[in-house]
Amino acid sequence: MNASTPIPQTASGISQWPDTDAVDARLKALIKQPIRPIRREHMDKVHDYFNSKCATSKALASAAGQFIPGGIQHNLAFNYPFPLAMKSAQGAHLEDVDGNRYIDFLQAGGPTLLGSNDPVVQEKVIETLRECGPSTGLLHEYEVKLAELVCRHVPSVEMFRMLASGTESVMGAIRLARAYTGKKWVIKIGGAYHGWSDQMVYGMRIPGTGRREAVGIPGGATHYTQESFPNDLAAIRRRLWINRLRGGTAAIIVEPLGPESGTRPARKDFNANLRKLCDEFGALLIFDEVVSGFRVGMGGAQGYFGVMPDLTIFGKCLTGGYPMAGGIGGRREVMMLLAGGIGGKQTKRAFVGGTLTANPLSCVAGYHSLVEMEKRNAPAVAGRAGDRMTAGLNEIVNRLGLPYVVYNQGSVVHLQTSGVLLLNVRNPIQLMREVNPRKHMMEEMGAAYMAHGLVTLAGSRLYTSAADTDDIVDEALNRFEDVFKLVV
Ligand code: PLP
Repeated sequence: MNASTPIPQTASGISQWPDTDAVDARLKALIKQPIRPIRREHMDKVHDYFNSKCATSKALASAAGQFIPGGIQHNLAFNYPFPLAMKSAQGAHLEDVDGNRYIDFLQAGGPTLLGSNDPVVQEKVIETLRECGPSTGLLHEYEVKLAELVCRHVPSVEMFRMLASGTESVMGAIRLARAYTGKKWVIKIGGAYHGWSDQMVYGMRIPGTGRREAVGIPGGATHYTQESFPNDLAAIRRRLWINRLRGGTAAIIVEPLGPESGTRPARKDFNANLRKLCDEFGALLIFDEVVSGFRVGMGGAQGYFGVMPDLTIFGKCLTGGYPMAGGIGGRREVMMLLAGGIGGKQTKRAFVGGTLTANPLSCVAGYHSLVEMEKRNAPAVAGRAGDRMTAGLNEIVNRLGLPYVVYNQGSVVHLQTSGVLLLNVRNPIQLMREVNPRKHMMEEMGAAYMAHGLVTLAGSRLYTSAADTDDIVDEALNRFEDVFKLVV
């Protein structure tokens, strides 16, 4: 597709679902091979870039290290060899405090589907801020407008309650599912990220790792959380059976693209089969659409797959990158258990709160971001940029004979060079021996991309946006090729 080919307004953000068996096979082949990092002499030049061109960032990073634990506050921020501090963000570009320019494929960790700092949204936000400031604690017109818009776009959502983050929304949705069903067990897919609430720090990143990261979390908090390996419907059915004898399953929660934003892509019919299992066992199906909501289509992943969850989690994309982004949507009957306020007719409710949630600032940003996304066909435009990026990267790695694996789900582009996230607890010796070197290789690749003017998500994922023109994608591909040539 080139710039002159218009994308129909009805086009989905995902033009083609990846062949999951083929991707699995390539990922397995990648982790069977020794790593293929940047050659040492070239890595020295990457370090030279950071040391000679990023002096202001380096000084800031060192000050940050004194006052901020680890010197960094975002798990997705790229921090090897040290974090770069950004000064400006516009559309597809970032500029750091030393004046270096980058093509931005982090896009704030995903939410800025229009590109960074969209001027139309920014203007509306400033107007609202001038009028009433960021929050009043009382109802604002934009709260209603945003809720109405979410209900209009997202097929399963009849009512919407805004919260402050994806993490909070997952907490609230699980509480709601338990209140509604009267059951306790919750099944998640191993490797999936659903925020950092006590009960969800379980089976994170690598499937089968259970409580490995649950430091500071008592066993009781994760007692009713279970994980199942990705795409393993038979194992989920077994769990549902066993849970039925122990009080029942309240919910199955999934990232519909697959765990860790599709790093282990779901089979195309997986979500529909989960829907059937939930119906059979009386559990609610929760789609965590923090990443997929609006990014893969205005109707989220549920619109793409044609599967109706009972509850949907929204997060960062909801407000186009502005703060306090989260929410729960779902069927009226279930959602009414979240009724807020003092008194009211509701006798039983699942308590959620948050003084600054649904404030005018977040709501005006959310409303106008969604309006602009629809108007500009942003999910499809960003998705086609993701397709172009994926095709280009695959052409380069194949031509250079590299084992790297590239595939995309629309504007979510996965670029696995070290395969660290694909290591498996079923091969514990390899896991223990290789997790650190493979992780370090991923850091080095990220640093090399950065030194070539490319910001990625942790060196292994790219979020494209509607600001990525064909020219920008082609320029980025040239830079990726320059990096990959440092390996061969
Ligand atoms: N769920 C998914 C799928 C996510 O990707 C994230 C964050 O990246 C969250 C939940 C947590 O959202 P937040 O960071 O807003 O708490």
